[in-house]
Amino acid sequence: MKSNDREFLKQKLKLSSELLERGKKSLLSHYTNGNFNEFVFFDHGKGSKVYDVDGNEYIDYAMGLGPLILGHAHPDIVKAASKAARAGAVHGFGNPYEVKFAELLVEAVPGIDKVTFTNSGTEATMQAIKCARAITNRKLIGKFEGNYHGTHDYAQISGRNSTAGSIEDPKSVSDFGGIPKEIVDSVITLSMNVEETFDKIERYKDELSCIILEPLPLMCPLVMKDFIIQLREVTKKYGILLIFDEVITGFRLGYGGAIEYFGVVPDLVTYGKIIGGGFPVGAVAGPEEYMKVLSFDKITDGKNKVYLTGTFSGNPVTCAAGIATLEYLKNNKNVYKEMEDKTLYLRNKMEEAARELNYTFKTLGKGSFFVSYFHNDEITNTRESKWKSTMQSFMVLRRHMIKNGIMFSDTGSYFLSSEHTYEDCDKTVEVFSETIKELI
Ligand code: PMP
Repeated sequence: MKSNDREFLKQKLKLSSELLERGKKSLLSHYTNGNFNEFVFFDHGKGSKVYDVDGNEYIDYAMGLGPLILGHAHPDIVKAASKAARAGAVHGFGNPYEVKFAELLVEAVPGIDKVTFTNSGTEATMQAIKCARAITNRKLIGKFEGNYHGTHDYAQISGRNSTAGSIEDPKSVSDFGGIPKEIVDSVITLSMNVEETFDKIERYKDELSCIILEPLPLMCPLVMKDFIIQLREVTKKYGILLIFDEVITGFRLGYGGAIEYFGVVPDLVTYGKIIGGGFPVGAVAGPEEYMKVLSFDKITDGKNKVYLTGTFSGNPVTCAAGIATLEYLKNNKNVYKEMEDKTLYLRNKMEEAARELNYTFKTLGKGSFFVSYFHNDEITNTRESKWKSTMQSFMVLRRHMIKNGIMFSDTGSYFLSSEHTYEDCDKTVEVFSETIKELI
C-alpha cells in the first residue's frame, strides 16, 4: 500500500484502526470469521449497505459471506428472531420452530423427506460424509479439487489452492496442518468436468462411500450440467452416495437450489448460510432411506447409526430466522429473477468498463453470485480458473474498492441481495472504473 493510502485510511478508519491494534493483542491476525488482515470493523448493516465503526457507508457484496439474500437486518427476520430470543434462546428440547423450519425445507426441495440441523456448513458436510460411510460400510471419500466444504479434516484436502498431480489424476494433499496421513489417504481427489474422472471413480468403485461436490463451485461457478448428470448415473450404478454441498447454492440459485436447477437429485444434501437468515446454521437432508441412519431411539442402540447432536442445533432463534427467510422467498419468488437481472447488469457493466481501460478482468457466475478473474484464459474446470493468481489480484482491487465505499469479501466472490438496486450497481461500476485507472 502506498504511504498516502495509509494516511488516508488512518484518517478515514480511525476507530477501526484502534480496534485492529487492540484486537491484535488477544485475537489472531486471521479474524475469526475468515477475513484475512481485516482493517474495517463493522458497526451495522441495513439492506445492501454496511456501516463501519467510523460511520463510513459501503455498498456490500460480502453479504455475510453469502447468507444475507434478503439484505442486512431484514425486518421480517429481525422480528422473528427477536421474538424467539425473548422466549429463551436455547433450552435443550424440541421446539415448534424446528418442526416448521424442517417442513419448509422438505417442501421446497425435490427428493428430500427428512432434515436434521447443525450449527454450520462445516458440521453438515462432516456429518453427511459420516452418514455415507455408515450407510455403505465403505471407507473412501471422493471429493473434487478446488471444492470447499468447510474446515473439518476431509474438507481440507485438495481445496481451492490445490493443483497437485495431473488434471486427469489429481493428487490428494492436505491444504493445512494437523491432518493425519490416514485422512489424506482416505480421500480420492477428482477433477470436475474431465472425462478421466469417471475412469478414476471406476478404479475405486468398491471402496468409495460417497462423492461430495459443490454443484456450482464458488471458486469456479461454471454450469457443468452434463458432467453432473453423468456423475449421478455413475454413482448410482456403483452404489456410491452422491452428496450435493448446497451451503452456497441452496435457496440462492433458486428456491429449490442446485437440485431444482440441474434437475438432479443427490442421495444427501447439505445446507448452511441462507437457510439460517444470518444466524449460525447447517443442515443435512435426504430421503428417508438414507436419513434413517441418523435415527435411533436409545443411545445404546447406536451401532451402525450416526449420532448427530449439538447443544445449539435446531435452536429457536436460528429456526425462527430461517422460517422468516424461507417464507419470504417462497412468497416472493420474483426476487430470484430480479436479483439475476441486476447481477448480470453489474457483471456486464464491470466487464465493459475493464475492456474500455484495457484491464484484464472477467466474471463467471449464475443467479445472484459471481467471481471475478484477472486472466483471459478459457475456464472449463476449477483448476483452470487459476484461483490463486486471481486471489492475489483480487485482494489489491478489493482494498482500493473498500477505500472508496464498496465492500468486497476476501473470498473473491460477489453476492447480491434482494435489497441491491441498479443505483448500487451503477455506483459500483463508477468506483470500479476509477479504481482501475489508479491500478493500471
Ligand atoms: N460448504 C460450502 C460450499 C461453503 O461455501 C462453506 C462456507 N463458505 C462451507 C461448506 C462451510 O460452512 P461454514 O462456514 O458455515 O462452516
